[in-house]
Amino acid sequence: MSKEPEADGRFSRVALMGIGLIGSSLARAMRKHNLADHIAIYTRREETLNTARELGLGDSYSTDPADVVTDADLVIFCVPVGANAALATQCGSAFKAGAIISDVGSVKKAVIRDIGPVLPDRVHLVPAHPIAGTEYSGPEAGFATLFQGRWCIVTPPPGTQEQATRSVVRFWERMGSMVAEMEAGHHDAVLAITSHLPHLIAYTIVGTATDLETSIQQEVIKYSAGGFRDFTRIAASDPVMWRDVFLNNKEAVLEMLGRFSEDLSAVQRMIRWGEGDKLEELFHRTGEIRRGVIEAKQA
Ligand code: NAP
Repeated sequence: MSKEPEADGRFSRVALMGIGLIGSSLARAMRKHNLADHIAIYTRREETLNTARELGLGDSYSTDPADVVTDADLVIFCVPVGANAALATQCGSAFKAGAIISDVGSVKKAVIRDIGPVLPDRVHLVPAHPIAGTEYSGPEAGFATLFQGRWCIVTPPPGTQEQATRSVVRFWERMGSMVAEMEAGHHDAVLAITSHLPHLIAYTIVGTATDLETSIQQEVIKYSAGGFRDFTRIAASDPVMWRDVFLNNKEAVLEMLGRFSEDLSAVQRMIRWGEGDKLEELFHRTGEIRRGVIEAKQA
């Protein structure tokens, strides 16, 4: 029988599988809040591992995933979503009996699909997604307060041991996050509209500007404060991470994109037919949403 995980959100040994923006922020936040006796770090490239070592992010470092998960009570996958399956396979049977396996991926159904079948029976899979980030990547980009006051959504698959879920919830709460529990598919639908579609729009609009004649491109950069600047910030996000998000949340993103395209056509029609009252009514409604975001302290 597997050992019961600790439910107080503190662990003897935590393995961070990937040490980019999110992995390194976790390392810093865990130190700040004293959530682990030992932080073991895996990353794919020696160069990134050396940076993590120079920054003093962990207690041990390796490019061998099986080596890093051995003896870990909590293992957190912090790599692009498309890399999870291969990485979990590389860990093989090295996971400790009773260990909690979690992640930080921006999509959740695909994580359960990819990591779940590879894991031995004696571990607990509790996926999580911190709704916090920046457009920067790599171990230098992280900071200890990234998750403070931000939501983290936990999506345990049906049948997950309650104690394992509680441990992950407490872990994030102790780093200052607000935690919600959700079914993975519901998470993917919600995030498709709140995060994935806005990124897709930003990438597309900046791409459209890039395709314009050289002279217009220069003007675009010069006068970018007029709204375009915010899109360029979002569209500077990591290409591999976002490629994986769209490919692994295909259904929900295409559904939201369909709805958005219909609404865009409606707005196009309002402009064409001079329906100012309808435009104004829409813009009033969207202003309410912004006020709601500010009130919820998520601005
Ligand atoms: P990042 O800064 O680009 O770091 C990525 C890490 O994954 C690095 O350690 C990198 O290793 C490793 N990696 C990349 N490709 C790999 C592969 N094919 N196999 C094994 N390792 C690989 O990424 P991040 O922003 O921390 O994102 C990590 C996860 O957090 C993603 O799943 C993302 O969906 C999720 N997330 C991101 C944000 C955000 O705003 N960025 C917010 C919430 C959740 P090397 O450097 O050694 O190659």
